[in-house]
Amino acid sequence: MQALARRDGLPILKQHACFVSISIMSVPSDFLQALQGQLSQPRRIAVISHDRPDGDAIGSSLALGALLQQAGHEVAIFNADPVPQSLRFLPGWERVEVLSSKRTEAHEVDLVFNIDAAGADRISQHVRDSVKGSMLFNIDHHRGNNHFGDHNWVDPDSPATGQMIAQLASAFGWRCGSEIAQALYAAISTDTGGLRYPATTAETYRIMATLVDAGANVGEINRLLYESFPLRRLYGLQEVLQTAEFFADHRVACLTLTMELKQKLGLTPDDTEGMLDHVRGIDSVLAAVFFEERAEAIRVSSRSKDSRVSVRKVCEQFGGGGHDLAAGVRMQGTVEEAKEAFLGELVRRVGEV
Ligand code: AMP
Ligand code: MN
Ligand code: MN
Repeated sequence: MQALARRDGLPILKQHACFVSISIMSVPSDFLQALQGQLSQPRRIAVISHDRPDGDAIGSSLALGALLQQAGHEVAIFNADPVPQSLRFLPGWERVEVLSSKRTEAHEVDLVFNIDAAGADRISQHVRDSVKGSMLFNIDHHRGNNHFGDHNWVDPDSPATGQMIAQLASAFGWRCGSEIAQALYAAISTDTGGLRYPATTAETYRIMATLVDAGANVGEINRLLYESFPLRRLYGLQEVLQTAEFFADHRVACLTLTMELKQKLGLTPDDTEGMLDHVRGIDSVLAAVFFEERAEAIRVSSRSKDSRVSVRKVCEQFGGGGHDLAAGVRMQGTVEEAKEAFLGELVRRVGEV
């Protein structure tokens, strides 16, 4: 273990840095009190997050699970879908138990934590049915969160649920080892586009600094998150970029991925992550949309670069949700129908700014 010099001359151990510089005021006192009350004795706890989990969902779940376990509780982590390949370097990723819809076992616990999920409907029914607890804590940063827990801490100004978990750890005085630090670093980095999106605050940077102090290896995590793609992704990207279409004076862009192309190249859901950023990064583009043909529905993933254009509002019109600058929805019908309806609404909104 590496020792760091402290101003008073006493060494502190790098792997046992605390969340000392993080604001403990961020956690609402009623939420904190309720949680402190529940955690005053050893509990059986389930941590679950939204379907098709992203870096924030997995990183936050692993970190919270490890923190609670460290505090003496028995913890299980569940999801409806497997951990994406790109996140399988995070220590303890194998702890995420994938609950199959075909086998509904009961997982009886005392407390359930729902992480990074705007609503109960973002978590598959079979997961909600099999994981049963007497109290539900809901920790999330989606503006549209419908406060479906018994105790809810929803901070729509927070750029990532991972940031809230770090604040929670700070409020409890929990210690952060390098494994927890890596998980939280990945959670915050993936939801902020590598600390670039506007929701990123000074607090975010302070938390990241604390995580680096606690042993998160910046170069390695970023290489594993953003520079370790399989070659097929490049072939997929080459073809998907050919589908780029622009509307409203190049202020709206879209990409389309057909089932046929996915099958031809063997693309996994993980491979398409981030493809949209290539058109989003064009100077004229204010909003970009990715349409992916799937067996059950058209998956629409949308991004905005302009706070006056809320893609969340467009997605909500079609039954989806998310954040103002990053949102999604599943649409029925053909890709053409989904594109026409969604882009029609988005172009109308862009025309108003
Ligand atoms: P994605 O485009 O899949 O990366 O998702 C961006 C954001 O939109 C995430 O914060 C999700 O929570 C939200 N989101 C994506 N798909 C949906 C959906 N079908 N319903 C509600 N919110 C969604
Ligand atoms: Mn998420
Ligand atoms: Mn998130």
